Amino acid sequence: MEEVLELVGKEDGPTSMVLVGVHGDETCGVEALKALFPSLVIARGRVFVGYGNPPAISARKRFLERNLNRMFVSDDTLSPEDMESYEYKRAQYLKPYLQKSGAVLDVHANPWKEKQTFVICESNATDIANFLPTNLLVSGFDAVEPGGADYYMNSIGKIGICFECGYLDDEYSRKTAGEAMMAFLKARGHIENDIVPEVQSRVHIFYKGHAKTNNFKLSRQFTNFERITKGEIIGMDGGEAVVAPKDCLILFARNGYIPGADVFLLGEVLP
Ligand SMILES: [Zn+2]
Repeated sequence: MEEVLELVGKEDGPTSMVLVGVHGDETCGVEALKALFPSLVIARGRVFVGYGNPPAISARKRFLERNLNRMFVSDDTLSPEDMESYEYKRAQYLKPYLQKSGAVLDVHANPWKEKQTFVICESNATDIANFLPTNLLVSGFDAVEPGGADYYMNSIGKIGICFECGYLDDEYSRKTAGEAMMAFLKARGHIENDIVPEVQSRVHIFYKGHAKTNNFKLSRQFTNFERITKGEIIGMDGGEAVVAPKDCLILFARNGYIPGADVFLLGEVLP
């Protein structure tokens, strides 16, 4: 799993990369790739295929020392300890393959047993994202959560796409992950594209909530992309209520016990 695999088509064409298991416990992408790869043939161009964090995949852990999905940033934003980590070194190993690629599909999944699939991308990826098997495109992540392979690609003028395929390890997400990889390869022109574009809603993330104290508690459970109304209490931070600044959607909501911890994201539906 350590080495990046490579598929080459008979005809000239674009170069792309598919990444799975950047978070080692998100096994749906890993299993889908293992099922697909042995019989996968591309007609055009070149495709790099990588297992993001092999030792974390083997250990079924999100990561070993650092979140690999935050290591694709410039060195001056990282600490010396970050740069000593396995994940930092792994990011440096993967970067040249990303640099050679015009677009990356980075397959992720959630720990909340939620089936909602979505694509994280910016407007540069729309022509590809429209073919991916989901009804939801989410933008704005580069600003609030920089550091993934998709962020890195966008930062060097290429196309970064993250596909969230549902719960991290079930039959549905394995199937969706496989479909997303095939759709990506078709949309990129490596395989003949016989897919009809999806009808997709768009959500833009505009705010990331951080805990100010060591005791941020959600007022209740929130489902990802649940609608909340202006003034609704999201949680209590120490003794202080944190409220929704306007009618919007909430996602990745969780309790926080360290000042500065990420505790929720807010987004709005785009027309
Ligand atoms: Zn992930």
